[in-house]
Amino acid sequence: MDPNGLKTGGLLLPTIERRCTSPPSVIVIGGGISGVAAARALSNSSFKVTVLESRDRIGGRIHTDNSFGCPIDMGASWLHGVCNENPLAPLISYLGLRLYRTSDDNSVLYDHDLESYALFDKDGNQVPKETVDKVGETFERILEETVKVRDEQEHDMPLLQAISIVFERHPHLKLEGLDDQVLQWCVCRLEAWFAADADEISLKNWDQERVLTGGHGLMVNGYYPVIEALAQGLDIRLNQRVTEITRQHNGVKVTTEDGTSYLADACIISVPLGVLKANVIKFEPELPQWKSSAIADLGVGTENKIAMHFDRVFWPNVEVLGMVGPTPKACGYFLNLHKATGNPVLVYMAAGRFAQEVEKLSDKEAVGLVVSHLKKMLPDATEPVKLIYFELVSMKVVHVADAFAFGVVCCRRSTWCRDGAPTPTPWGPTRATWSRSRPTCARGSPPPSRTCTSPARRPVPSTRGPCTAPTRRASPLPRNAGSGSWR
Ligand SMILES: Cc1cc2nc3c(=O)[nH]c(=O)nc-3n(C[C@H](O)[C@H](O)[C@H](O)COP(=O)(O)OP(=O)(O)OC[C@H]3O[C@@H](n4cnc5c(N)ncnc54)[C@H](O)[C@@H]3O)c2cc1C
Repeated sequence: MDPNGLKTGGLLLPTIERRCTSPPSVIVIGGGISGVAAARALSNSSFKVTVLESRDRIGGRIHTDNSFGCPIDMGASWLHGVCNENPLAPLISYLGLRLYRTSDDNSVLYDHDLESYALFDKDGNQVPKETVDKVGETFERILEETVKVRDEQEHDMPLLQAISIVFERHPHLKLEGLDDQVLQWCVCRLEAWFAADADEISLKNWDQERVLTGGHGLMVNGYYPVIEALAQGLDIRLNQRVTEITRQHNGVKVTTEDGTSYLADACIISVPLGVLKANVIKFEPELPQWKSSAIADLGVGTENKIAMHFDRVFWPNVEVLGMVGPTPKACGYFLNLHKATGNPVLVYMAAGRFAQEVEKLSDKEAVGLVVSHLKKMLPDATEPVKLIYFELVSMKVVHVADAFAFGVVCCRRSTWCRDGAPTPTPWGPTRATWSRSRPTCARGSPPPSRTCTSPARRPVPSTRGPCTAPTRRASPLPRNAGSGSWR
């Protein structure tokens, strides 16, 4: 037990004895969960903290949209590892937020196991469960064989290349027809976990991540309450895009786009990797070579979400609806939120290069693509009543593929009506482009240290449905916030 809330969940720092009278000051750049959590920890330890956030909202890649009349997470939506070791789990439990378990530890497909799903071919025929189970086993076998390839190789290679080597060595693992299409769907899901294509995922590193135990829980009421709780009482300045960070002899000067300067003893930079890669923040003096090389060598992936609200549920009562296809790109993935939340909502997710291609489509084309996928699977599908799309108005300075991780300046939500016409906004039509910045390893580049990874999963029987985060023992919230009562 940790009655002072000093260590719980890793969100708080130990109390620091101070010799000086005024508290040390820190500027936190970026109001996503990492920045807000850092600011919370520092503030709880009596630092003077100011958060500078470029958007007109906090949360960054956590963004819960309420335009359907129910919370929909357009960024992060799962708690991966529902256990006390996960610093967020006790907080979620303390706040009384519900989680819906989509898979246990060691599931084949990361945040989903192959249990509550319905896969269809492009003609709307449902793939038999036995086929999916059988292919799931083959998929695991292939991944195990890639580990042997890795052990023989001195140099890194893309995971896709290793899979080709496995097929050469074990031709019986290469599948055909419908089996192959289901296998491609499994690869599609793997790519979604990394938000990158298999030819960009590092063989050396892909399974090195230590995923916390406890299974994967979907935030039924959205992630925003977590951000909101952590941000309580903090000094947060919105619409403050940092453009320059200057180290001075007694501290740091942080300058924003509108020319405002902030001084502090130190600063914490929590902007996405994509922002650092785009060099839109000037460092004075320049960052050391080892740091800028690390920034350059790490990759970021792309993931898009399109949420659709229907007037009735016409799909099977499963967590995942999927369309299999001859390539991972041709496959589709719909998360059925009705199963977890009771709301008639499907969320389409695209990842990797396919997600980047979706970003290039016009709004109408992107919606058409998603709805056509749905109608192929379920010919009786109705048109969505509403859609959530996001326009990410990126800084024009540099164009990078992953607008989200690039840390776009602002994000406009638009609700679409049945006729497909977007609600007009001052910025014109809107479209969703959320990039998940899970690090990936670019082909040919040296593998960055153990970052772009996830363990090979083994299917285990899972308990589906509602689950609870571990018991909260102490609040990580500000010491004077609320009653701090235990739940
Ligand atoms: C579609 C999608 C789904 C995801 N699903 C999950 C999931 O289910 N579970 C999970 O655990 N993770 C998930 N992730 C990943 C998770 O969302 C991120 O790892 C996490 O939110 C990153 O938090 P962060 O604070 O590091 O960065 P961010 O949330 O990106 O925060 C950085 C902040 O910095 C701001 N900023 C950028 N540039 C500047 C500047 N120059 N000056 C000031 N501020 C700036 C940005 O506006 C942003 O608010 C998902 C991500 C995406 C995109």
